[in-house]
Amino acid sequence: MRVEVARYAGVCYGVERALKLAGEAATGEDSVHTLGPLIHNPQAVEALRAQGVETADTLSGIESGTVIIRSHGVSPAVIANAHEMGLRVVDATCPHVSKAHEAAEELAHAGYAVVIVGEADHPEVEGIMAHAGGDAIVVESASELPTRLPSKRVGVVVQTTQSEARLAEVVDALLPRVRELRVHNTICAATAKRQESAAELASAVDVVVVVGGHNSGNTTRLVDICRAVNPRTHHVETADDLDFTWFDGASVVGVTAGASTPDAQMQGVIRAIEAVA
Ligand code: SF4
Repeated sequence: MRVEVARYAGVCYGVERALKLAGEAATGEDSVHTLGPLIHNPQAVEALRAQGVETADTLSGIESGTVIIRSHGVSPAVIANAHEMGLRVVDATCPHVSKAHEAAEELAHAGYAVVIVGEADHPEVEGIMAHAGGDAIVVESASELPTRLPSKRVGVVVQTTQSEARLAEVVDALLPRVRELRVHNTICAATAKRQESAAELASAVDVVVVVGGHNSGNTTRLVDICRAVNPRTHHVETADDLDFTWFDGASVVGVTAGASTPDAQMQGVIRAIEAVA
C-alpha cells in the first residue's frame, strides 16, 4: 500500500503566521490569551496552552496582559475595546481576511447592499459583517437569498474558505435580479488550491484520509469535496483516530489536511498509515 499526499495540503500562510505570533507573544512575562481558540485544531490549542497561551471566550475573561486576535479576525469594536481595557493587542488577522474586511467596508460605504457568502455563525463572517456595517445578508447557498433584496445594487464578499462553486451559484442567482452586481472574490488561494488538489487526489486513490479538527470548517469542506468524488473518505484529527480496516483491499491511500492542521499532525497520520502498509 502506498501513501500519496495532496499537492497542496496542511497549514496555510495565515495559520502559520498566527502560530508564530502567538509563540513570540508567549515568550514575554505578561499573561497571554487568544480571543477564542487560535485555530480550529484542538491539539494545536492544547500545545499553545502548554506554552502559556490561554484561550478566553470574550474580552471580559482577560484582566491584563496580551490578547491575540486570531487569523479569522474580529469586528473593529473588539480591537477598540481591547485597547480601552489597556490590553496589548497582537493582531494575527490573516491578511486575506483583512482584504475581505476592506471589500465589505468599501461596498457598504459605496451604498451597495452587501451579500456575504459564508456561514453566518462563523467568527470570520461575524467580523466581515461588522466591517460591512452590521446589516449585510449572509447566505451559504443561493436558496438562502431573500425573496426581496434591499437594493438593485448588490455587492458580494465571500468567506475566505468558501468554495468557488458556492460563490458562482450565488452570483448566478443574483445576476438576473439586480441592476448592478460587484463581486469581490475573497476566497483565498490557499483554500482553493487545497480544495482542487483534494478533489484531484480523491479521484486517483482508493481511500482518502483528511486530517484536521472536527471543528475546522475548511477541513470539513475538504472532507465533503473528497467524499463526493470518493465515498471511501475518512476524517481524523490524529493518528489515534485511524481505523486500519478502512484500508482493506486498498493499494493507494491519499492524505490531505486542512489549512489549520499543523504539519506535525499530518506527518503523524502519514507515518501511522505507512507503518501498516
Ligand atoms: S485559509 Fe487563507 S484566509 Fe484563512 S488563514 Fe489561511 S491563508 Fe488566511
